[in-house]
Amino acid sequence: MDVFEKCWNFTRAKETIERGIYPYFIPISENDGPRVCMNNHEVIMIGSNNYLGLTKDPRVQEAAIRAIEKFGTSCSGSRFLNGTLEMHEELEQRLARFVKKESALIFSTGYQSNLGAISTLVGKQDVVITDRTNHASIFDGIFLANGMSMGGIIKRYRHNDMDDLERVLKSVDIDKPKLLITDGVFSMECSIVKLPQMKELAEKYHARLYLDDAHGLGVVGDSGRGTMEHFGMFNQVDLVMCTFSKSFASLGGFVAGDEDIIHYIKHISRPLIFSAAIPPANTAAVLKALEIIENEPQIVRRLQEIGHKMRREFQALGFNTGESETPIIPIIIGDDHKTFEFWQALYNAGIYTNAVVTPATPPDRALLRTSFMATHTDRDLDQVLDAFKTIGRQMNII
Ligand code: PMP
Repeated sequence: MDVFEKCWNFTRAKETIERGIYPYFIPISENDGPRVCMNNHEVIMIGSNNYLGLTKDPRVQEAAIRAIEKFGTSCSGSRFLNGTLEMHEELEQRLARFVKKESALIFSTGYQSNLGAISTLVGKQDVVITDRTNHASIFDGIFLANGMSMGGIIKRYRHNDMDDLERVLKSVDIDKPKLLITDGVFSMECSIVKLPQMKELAEKYHARLYLDDAHGLGVVGDSGRGTMEHFGMFNQVDLVMCTFSKSFASLGGFVAGDEDIIHYIKHISRPLIFSAAIPPANTAAVLKALEIIENEPQIVRRLQEIGHKMRREFQALGFNTGESETPIIPIIIGDDHKTFEFWQALYNAGIYTNAVVTPATPPDRALLRTSFMATHTDRDLDQVLDAFKTIGRQMNII
């Protein structure tokens, strides 16, 4: 046996490529935000996390260019040693203010933020309780804690099911330290967590609450302050995490909470200490995006209006949009193969969506994940709906 045996035997992706319905790793040659060129084929992009469309905002681009001119292209080291810029600290203070927490800590990716915070907080004596459908980086943070042989017990509950959560909480000794982790807006089901009920349970069973609001900030809440704002619960969540690769038009992420907790993570977290700092251009882009979100809440409102319109129209056409309450709308098809075929037909018609199949979804719940941008025009949206209607009917999906 050879360690590479598994690679030679891996045929799943090749079979889909041979059938001509492979929807992954398609290179983009031009990107105008709502419209992009993939393999010389223009498509309306409804599969991006660029929710506010700020990656092409000239003010954000200009800020990134200026930062490169001033600080170069890399921080060339960890935040811990030579890699901290004044700009990093300014961003941390402004993010903390934005989410109404005492302190924030930025990481080089959103994935790393979850890895860094969770693996540092969860010790041998602790129990982590997590929604089954939480993002992979949350699970990997827990696994990293376990890998460092200091992690505690992990318990999962059914997606957004507060009865099942209570069953799990009840099964743990009340005196055991507990961290309850949830996505704010779930990345695939696109539903919003039942935060008020969750908070009640967290108090009843003495658990700390950690909210991953990667798809919440910039998207939900009247001024884009995410799930906490949506429910008016800023001071009810112990730690909030978010990535910069979605509404904030960049790459990186942060965790915010009480000063003592952030200070501890900052000095102990391996993913923070043993990895280079977020580069100047990425940091400056987030600072500018944050300023725009704070000063121009109408962008957030436009995104929310687009979400309401598209969900309403998809449902009127007869599509199953699951539990979505946001501008991220799953179109549930069920069967993996049919999902790939629908994806391909839409792509040929000039619409890019994300095909999500098993094991990323439960069996028979394969879906196309559609996500809209504040910068999509009404014409873009009408074109999307026309294509969904025509192809959905041809394929007997509606
Ligand atoms: N948390 C959630 C809920 C996510 O959806 C993602 C990215 N899809 C991440 C964390 C990781 O963020 P990033 O891609 O910026 O590393």
